[in-house]
Amino acid sequence: MKNTVHDLPIKERFDLPEGVIYLDGNSLGPLPKGTSERLQFMLTEEWGGHLITGWNRDGWMEQPARVGNQVARLIGAPDGSVTIGDTLSIKVYQALSAALKMRPRRRVILSDSGNFPSDLYMAQGLIGQLDQGYELRIVDPEEVADAMDETVAVAMITQVDYRTGRMHDMNAITLAAHTAGAVMVWDLAHSAGAVPVDLVASNSEFAVGCTYKYLNGGPGAPAFIYVRRDIAETVDPALAGWLGHDAPFAFELDYRPAPGIGRMRVGTPPVMQMTALEHALGLWDSVDMAKVRRASVALSDCFIREVEARCPALTLVSPRDSAARGSQVSFAFDNGYAAMQALIDRNVIGDFRAPNIMRFGFTPLYIDEADVRKAVDVIEDVINNGLWKHDKYKKQALVT
Ligand SMILES: *Cc1c(COP(=O)(O)O)cnc(C)c1O
Repeated sequence: MKNTVHDLPIKERFDLPEGVIYLDGNSLGPLPKGTSERLQFMLTEEWGGHLITGWNRDGWMEQPARVGNQVARLIGAPDGSVTIGDTLSIKVYQALSAALKMRPRRRVILSDSGNFPSDLYMAQGLIGQLDQGYELRIVDPEEVADAMDETVAVAMITQVDYRTGRMHDMNAITLAAHTAGAVMVWDLAHSAGAVPVDLVASNSEFAVGCTYKYLNGGPGAPAFIYVRRDIAETVDPALAGWLGHDAPFAFELDYRPAPGIGRMRVGTPPVMQMTALEHALGLWDSVDMAKVRRASVALSDCFIREVEARCPALTLVSPRDSAARGSQVSFAFDNGYAAMQALIDRNVIGDFRAPNIMRFGFTPLYIDEADVRKAVDVIEDVINNGLWKHDKYKKQALVT
């Protein structure tokens, strides 16, 4: 069936197992077709055939900038303002350190209780390392704008809540931060490729995100970091690695940051993983984010309507208002872990987040309304007929 998002039958451009309804692209995007062939070429021809000359000949060294531009297009950022590398946790640390340095007299990092724990942990670790009286202030998501005051150095906020899908108004929060004199750091982990983002319009100083979720870069794909053009020449990159140096191959004894976003690079890029990502991002060339958003809202609304009508035991924990929701829908159910295992056993793949949340992601590139309806049929069967009660669904795995 042709997907209605745009003119391409884009569902056919993913290698999804037959019969599986994949509602977890918000956690790990599926494999785009052609990735295996591209990687095979990279391994045998580029690495195997060209050896170290691949860094120049195959463009490995410029890959972080090149792929950064592909991501930039999806988040409303100009060319040359995004680079790729490391993991999201590392990029959070870098952005946060650089942002704190911009407000040396302030001591508060403001975040909210809906943030992903790794972001909070990185802030806590950084505060311990600095040992200068910094404080992480965590407020309820609804209170973020009101909590901006003259003590806040940096607001570090994840736009879309990983558990509930609740989405912050990026422009309003950034404006509140700037009005209070704070620097803004956005985490776009659940936004990039899911909802239209306009970083330039928001005027945020920093943004970070990962590429293995909606961008389909594969497990462990490197993260991205954006720095606003006017400050990119002066920010302190915090992690002073040789590939963020102005002249890495001059091998100087002292660190001098590269001009612009290049300074946010650290060490040698993961070329294999970046090659998979570069291929995956090629899929987006023909995709209009506004259309993706319209389709994801339609699919999510349909899912909510059907589940609520047919499974009264499940309680919606995502915002009902689609304007306040990203591209995922979550329901609370006390036996959510076992229920999700029972769904996965029946080829409907979502995931579970403690303590009781069943999470479903809607990615219109490869999910259509027929999939949503089929998934709800299975959910109805599992929940209403207690199919989750089987012992084999109770043992919690390492990754939920
Ligand atoms: C997925 C996610 C992470 C994961 O960080 P990694 O370093 O890539 O493991 C961090 N923060 C947020 C907000 C996320 O959604």
